[in-house]
Amino acid sequence: MSIERTLAIIKPDAMEAGHAGDIIRIFEANHFKIIAARLVNLSKQEAEGFYAVHHSKEFFASLTAFMSSGPALVMVLEGEDIIARLREVMGATNPAHAAPGTIRKLYATNVERNAVHGSDAPETAAFEIAYFFPGMESV
Ligand code: GDP
Repeated sequence: MSIERTLAIIKPDAMEAGHAGDIIRIFEANHFKIIAARLVNLSKQEAEGFYAVHHSKEFFASLTAFMSSGPALVMVLEGEDIIARLREVMGATNPAHAAPGTIRKLYATNVERNAVHGSDAPETAAFEIAYFFPGMESV
């Protein structure tokens, strides 16, 4: 086990619904340390840059419109094995498949409006942390 950093986003749907506090409480209950945070209003272009890996997907336009539709809370979380642990606490991308008690089971509306983002690997965490917090170390 090693100390890692990961990028979490409370997405516009969860912000709009007033679930930011509930989600942060879950992070804290799991001893995820918040070491940076920014409230952002992404432009469509910034959302496209963040999700560039998905540019060829049929849902890309819809996803980036959603992600630029309102405020989002972007955070860097730190802890042992945090990348995998955050993914576990988030639950499956599609809330219909998410385990009970996970953030997406509790707060997601559908596969797109799914409340929260978490980096899926060390390489993506490095890219995503640098995207929002230029100059910040990813480990
Ligand atoms: P994640 O790592 O669990 O967030 O999932 P992905 O990296 O596969 O997808 C990124 C984001 O795109 C998801 O969190 C959803 O917001 C959205 N998304 C994924 N799959 C679909 C889909 O089939 N349809 C739509 N409309 N959005 C999707």
